[in-house]
Amino acid sequence: MVRKPIIGGNWKMNRGTPEDSKEMLESLIPLVLEINSVDIVIVVPFTVLTTVSKLLNGTNIKLGAQNMYFEDKGAYTGEVSPRFLKAIGVEYVILGHSERRDIFNESDSLINKKLKKALSLDLKPIVCIGEHLEEREAGKTKDIITYQINETFKALTKEEMIKTVIAYEPIWAIGTGKTATPEQAEEIHIFIREYINQKFDRDTADSIRIQYGGSVKPTNAEDLFKKKNIDGGLVGGASLETNSFYQIINAAALTIK
Ligand code: PEP
Repeated sequence: MVRKPIIGGNWKMNRGTPEDSKEMLESLIPLVLEINSVDIVIVVPFTVLTTVSKLLNGTNIKLGAQNMYFEDKGAYTGEVSPRFLKAIGVEYVILGHSERRDIFNESDSLINKKLKKALSLDLKPIVCIGEHLEEREAGKTKDIITYQINETFKALTKEEMIKTVIAYEPIWAIGTGKTATPEQAEEIHIFIREYINQKFDRDTADSIRIQYGGSVKPTNAEDLFKKKNIDGGLVGGASLETNSFYQIINAAALTIK
């Protein structure tokens, strides 16, 4: 089964004025123009989605949002409708990032509602799961992952599951400079795939893309992406600068399995 790797650059709240978005994308777009073996997604703050949507028009880079609400419209001050995202050319949306879970108290059941809504509108979800350091040290990583898969993907059909991208992001590795070793990451990716096999079937498990996220850098990307079950990465810090992000995209292109 050949799965197309996906590299997401999550700018978080670190880049996102029209000027600094334009500056980076104008240098990145020509560098990656020929790379068609990897899905490249730039995930930017809401305020700059329209500007970036225009900059990406006609390129091979896809546009992603960092969050959304699960209703189409209504009295939800400060929230953003998935329909508004669709209307300006957003293709992907990150759901359940650990920063949303930990800082903004997003629960698995809320993420499940958002996920079903995104899928119903044909927005491609990138759903983050992963354990805290204490949970890993207590030997609970697989229990946490099992719980998150059961709750976050509750009542999804096989077709919906296949359209979803999973980002395995051990929280202790996000923005800390500590990366899971390729072996540690692969062990959990295999576990996730086998659990999806149990809950759905072999075809679903073999089709779904599972990215790794947590301090991916040009120096470790190739070793991570070489692993059979790692289908690219969700990148924070190293996606903020053209050269480092380009090298990570290139590493995914060089390690196609
Ligand atoms: C992330 O934002 O999802 C992430 C993995 O960040 P970083 O690459 O900076 O660890």
